[in-house]
Amino acid sequence: MPGIICGSDPRFTVRAMPSPTFTAQRPRRVALLGSTGSIGTSTLDVVRHLPDRLEVAGLAAHSKWEQLAGQCREFKPRFAVLCDPVAFKQADRSAFPKETELLCGEDAVARLVTDAGTDVVVSAVVGAAGLAGTWAALEAGKTVALANKETLVVAGPLVTELAAERGAKLLPVDSEHSAIFQALTGHTPADVTRVVLTASGGPFRGKRAPELEAVTPAQALKHPTWQMGPKITIDSATLMNKALEVIEARWLFGLAAEQIDVIVHPESIVHSFVEFADGSVLAQLSPPDMRLPIQLALLYPERLGGPAKRLDWQKFSALNFEQPDRETFAALELGFEVARSGGTCGAVLNAANEAAVGRFLNGEFAFLDIARCCRAVLSSHDYETRPTLERLKALDAWARQEVARWTRTRTPVAPSP
Ligand code: NDP
Ligand code: MG
Repeated sequence: MPGIICGSDPRFTVRAMPSPTFTAQRPRRVALLGSTGSIGTSTLDVVRHLPDRLEVAGLAAHSKWEQLAGQCREFKPRFAVLCDPVAFKQADRSAFPKETELLCGEDAVARLVTDAGTDVVVSAVVGAAGLAGTWAALEAGKTVALANKETLVVAGPLVTELAAERGAKLLPVDSEHSAIFQALTGHTPADVTRVVLTASGGPFRGKRAPELEAVTPAQALKHPTWQMGPKITIDSATLMNKALEVIEARWLFGLAAEQIDVIVHPESIVHSFVEFADGSVLAQLSPPDMRLPIQLALLYPERLGGPAKRLDWQKFSALNFEQPDRETFAALELGFEVARSGGTCGAVLNAANEAAVGRFLNGEFAFLDIARCCRAVLSSHDYETRPTLERLKALDAWARQEVARWTRTRTPVAPSP
């Protein structure tokens, strides 16, 4: 596990220790990117419950200015950012408190995350759009609580190298990766045989392909255990979310693709397993509530009482596990393939998936077209082993165009840039 940066790596463990000034003298100041989303509002709930330990330095959203203004009135951050210039123009300045400076665009996000008044950045924008803010924070050596898995799917090796180079800490928020991170603590890479990510199986668990051809966005958006934003909810229904998480684990923990496995666990209580060389397996259990991994990433390594739900041992009964149906949920296999190939594959798969999910939600794609189209776009791109960030951005744009051109009978033909 040469690239490991979490849990068992002594370099990481040292870097992840909180500085005594944080704990003894003042709350940690949080810059929250994606504050109006599902992870964003859960993060604010954690802050609301721990006012002595956490405060909001800045908030950023895309276009929901009214919601952002309400958050600013409650938390009084120094900065608020709207990434969308149209929303920035429309926003009623008088809805924001006088303590808050309202800014616009990617430069403003960079200003917020690199500000000396920011201790920890929560990266909770959805999609590849989250990469820029995460990158700026790591470049400035900040601690990043990473929910935006797409950052690592698109540019895992570049992002983890940057974090190591700048002495920045990258702490997982994704529940499976938080579970693995917790189980790895105190162990060396040589101790670990493999990790097993748990998957709820989504709303279509147990269904076969013919039953999925005609499912609607409304059906796919009904997740059985988690309340999340629409993109990740569709990813959970296709199992693309688990595919992205395999790639995320590959880069975050420096594991070989062969050391990562997936098991379906419908109750979403066990958030993942780590299997050690001696055959021992450690797991982390808690109800499905993102406020727990968010709080741990914000206050690591401290464990304090917070808002997250607790296991009710009176109601606790069976925990079930089953093998994923890799044939029906073809997206999962793409994750293993991309984790093995690395290079340009993550950026292409991620962009193709974002565009395909958008088309499914608009009614332009059938549910199973998402994985079909992603495979077609991935196989038609010009693979490179060590791409630059610029090359990855160009491929991201290319893959989105290819999805727009794709139809079920015709695979993309334009050469990638
Ligand atoms: P949501 O769709 O609920 O929220 C997305 C947030 O990102 C909103 O604040 C939105 O602003 C903002 N945003 C959207 N597009 C842009 C853009 N182009 N530039 C800047 N900001 C933008 O997503 P989730 O909270 O569900 O997910 C966020 C991330 O966390 C994803 O990467 C997801 O995979 C990951 N994650 C989520 C989990 C969950 O439980 N939800 C669990 C584990 C990981 P606006 O509202 O103004 O549009
Ligand atoms: Mg997850």
